[in-house]
Amino acid sequence: RWQQLQQQSLLAGCSADQQRLEIAANITSVTDAQNAFQAGAEGIGLFRTEMLFMERDAPPDEEEQYQVYRAVLQAAEGKPVIIRTFDIGGDKPLDYLPFTTERNPYLGLRGVRLYPYCEALFRTQLRALLRAASDGPLKVMLPMVSQPEELLWVQQLITEEESALHAALIPHASFSLGIMLEVPAAALQVSTFCALADFFSIGSNDLTQYLLAVDRNNPRVARYYHYAHPALWLLLQQVVIQAHQHGRWIGLCGELGSDRRFLPLLLGLGLDEISLSSARITECKTQLSQLHAGRCRQLLRQVCGCENSEQVLSLLASSQVSEP
Ligand code: PEP
Ligand code: MG
Repeated sequence: RWQQLQQQSLLAGCSADQQRLEIAANITSVTDAQNAFQAGAEGIGLFRTEMLFMERDAPPDEEEQYQVYRAVLQAAEGKPVIIRTFDIGGDKPLDYLPFTTERNPYLGLRGVRLYPYCEALFRTQLRALLRAASDGPLKVMLPMVSQPEELLWVQQLITEEESALHAALIPHASFSLGIMLEVPAAALQVSTFCALADFFSIGSNDLTQYLLAVDRNNPRVARYYHYAHPALWLLLQQVVIQAHQHGRWIGLCGELGSDRRFLPLLLGLGLDEISLSSARITECKTQLSQLHAGRCRQLLRQVCGCENSEQVLSLLASSQVSEP
């Protein structure tokens, strides 16, 4: 049984009827990355870099960041790595940034919206990423994007930092730039973003929070926060179809990817990748290898026609989507 698990962890994520779904890992450190690849991750789908900035008195400098990003790329040995630029604000404040307390921080200055207020800090991260990109294939993504202008502004900054590195004769390389789809407005406008972004990753934690208008950390409304809401699947279906129509790669990196009840629907969506915690990777690949993608697509269509979450959950519980 151990050997069987070991083999499963080395295999590529694939359904019983041979539909590919890359199984990647969410990480917050170099050690996490090493453990993820040990566990059979096919890539890193989300490196939450804000963790490097937290619980300290001053931010990490360019060299420190460069060493971390480079070590992650080295651990990946050529497998795809997506690094997310720091996602500070919301529930993750920082002492050394001049934050004013916000009444509604999740709708406030967080993610990409914060960068103009700490531009030097953001440029430092971009330089570290550009330098690390010469150590392996790198994809970088931005959190909390809600309008195309934000992406255009970041692209301008990247161009400027590339020129500066070039002029200083510092080795660097370019990376592909994508965005998280976690604000419903951006998800609905995915076709517009296709002209600007190289790839997408759905952030199901925030997308669910903003779509259903439920604070993801408030226990008083926890019963309203669930992935079984048909509206979420209607949106996800539309988003994946449109991204693929424009030839764009699209993954998902929120907690939804870790909930085994919904794996048939994620497969049915036709996503290119899902990213989850390393501890879940082998189990996920095993479950995936028993699923029938054709039946999962049909199940997704039924779910999109449901009236409420209860109907969705009972459909999932009674569905026959596995190979016998
Ligand atoms: C998400 O919102 O789904 C996500 C992956 O980002 P975070 O949980 O860090 O906000
Ligand atoms: Mg998020």
